[in-house]
Amino acid sequence: MRFVDSHTHIYLRSFQDIETMSAAGIEGVVVCSYFPVKPIGPSTLVDLHRWLTELEPERLKKCGISALVAVGIHPRSIPSTGVREVLDHISSLFDSGKALALGEVGLETASNEEEKVLLRQISLAKTYDLPMIFHTPRQNKAQIFDRLLKLIKGQKVDMTKVIIDHLTADLVARVRELNANAGITVQPGKMTEKDVVSIVASAGVEGVLINSDLSNQPSDPLTLPKVARALSEAGTSKADVEKVTYFNAKKILKF
Ligand SMILES: [Zn+2]
Repeated sequence: MRFVDSHTHIYLRSFQDIETMSAAGIEGVVVCSYFPVKPIGPSTLVDLHRWLTELEPERLKKCGISALVAVGIHPRSIPSTGVREVLDHISSLFDSGKALALGEVGLETASNEEEKVLLRQISLAKTYDLPMIFHTPRQNKAQIFDRLLKLIKGQKVDMTKVIIDHLTADLVARVRELNANAGITVQPGKMTEKDVVSIVASAGVEGVLINSDLSNQPSDPLTLPKVARALSEAGTSKADVEKVTYFNAKKILKF
């Protein structure tokens, strides 16, 4: 089988992990921007985005994996100064086509600063008509999800280009009602393969994307093949398994 992992921070993982993913049938990964400490100034994220767009696709290509790079200011990575400079650089990466999506962006605590930075990014991605990958937090997920949805709806974005990620089972239906896409992160402490089986049974496979959110934290490079196996064992058709582990990501993100 073939797979696209629709949300990773693979630049925080080893070359060995990339080889493992390639051998398991992972054809493509979405590389999302995130920096694990709050940057002092704009150059941290400018250099991160240069790393993601200039070096990471080449590293992945060596193992036959194609990359789609998403850039943006994660709510936990908002620089203390120089947001404008980071946004200008993001804009230049959209102009050149080196980055083809906004992400990951969103809300962690829904502070005023987070909301302001998020709104500026949504309006930027809207002008380029690009897909947007939104983070939801572990803490107060339901409340912050509501706030996030309100902000996105207020910006009148094309919902078919929106992916709201790290969802719990109860939030998937709410995202699908709006015609937006539901990202499910399968990872220790988040969702399990069994959770995906029950989500697919209740919400179906349209607009549902599975990902590993691969990073330096506990996360599994083989998430996608393992989810596919669990779905197949539970009786899901091959076509449906491929939708949530491959085709939906390809279609929504224009891979
Ligand atoms: Zn992430």
